[in-house]
Amino acid sequence: MNITSLKLSATNCFVIRAAENYVLIDTGYEDDWGEFCTRLREADVELAQISHLILTHHHDDHCGLLHNILRENDSIRVVMSHRCKDLILRGENDLTHGGGYVNRWVALIVRLYLSLILRKTRHTFPPYQLRDGDFLVTGDANLQDIGIPLNGKIIETPGHTVDSISILFADGDCLVGDAAANMLQFAGTKYCAVFITDLGAYYESWEKIISAGASRIFPAHGAPFAADKLKGNLWKNKAEDMAPYRYECEIAFYVCFLKVASRYDFDISQTLPIRIIHVLRQRAPVHGFHILIKLYRVYRATGNYEHYTWFTSKDITRSVVAPSTGNQGETRITERS
Ligand SMILES: [Zn+2]
Repeated sequence: MNITSLKLSATNCFVIRAAENYVLIDTGYEDDWGEFCTRLREADVELAQISHLILTHHHDDHCGLLHNILRENDSIRVVMSHRCKDLILRGENDLTHGGGYVNRWVALIVRLYLSLILRKTRHTFPPYQLRDGDFLVTGDANLQDIGIPLNGKIIETPGHTVDSISILFADGDCLVGDAAANMLQFAGTKYCAVFITDLGAYYESWEKIISAGASRIFPAHGAPFAADKLKGNLWKNKAEDMAPYRYECEIAFYVCFLKVASRYDFDISQTLPIRIIHVLRQRAPVHGFHILIKLYRVYRATGNYEHYTWFTSKDITRSVVAPSTGNQGETRITERS
């Protein structure tokens, strides 16, 4: 398959010729637009020539440019997993299905990289409402059945997120989004993405990719590699080595970082995750450790950080919505001193 990579700030998107048109796989971060247009021009492809856009999953570094692209060509059919529809409408990376970083080193490196280099830790993107003509994939689907004149299929490959899909061509080339990756190998990723919702499902997706006949893997992060690498690294990372994504850890990191950054007059407030800004806004000047202790106590009391609002600075009183129990009521917690 003649696959052209469009390398953006953090994401590899791909364009593939399909008869008179092109299929685009994924977009980049919301502010990758200039880079995206440059890469497309270098590939000698015009936005008007794109007929389909396949989103491998809903994350901010894959969906950020969707609106920009459709503004230029609104006839593009967007293809995604049926599980993506609601997640992409929320405009925020899904954390309601749990998960975490593949190990603690990766957690540290990714936080540093996102905050210092990329300055993109909000994990949000412009929400997208499905339009008429878009296509939701349920199970596996032949590309020709959704109007793409290429010999290949879309397969469900969950694990990184619940809505992850891959595109497997008859010649063995497989575009996997984040269902595999080729980055931070020195930190022990072993061809896994840095963040995984369900490690068991992730490796089962690898087995599916291998048994379906993939020979070359094109990840969204890092260079293409032979599918044999997946065989050789199956089940190598362990669930017990993962660093669960917990807000208190994220907050601890960013609060410490903010304190150091403010000493050097380096404003990172624009790069902080929205939930954390929410906390910090109520607490200026920032007392990082104090906030952390309070949040930890709330976490111990509720076991839930999915949604929270920080109300006052003296007593901890906050509302907790517990989606896992379906309890939409408010829980008030008063800190014991
Ligand atoms: Zn992702």
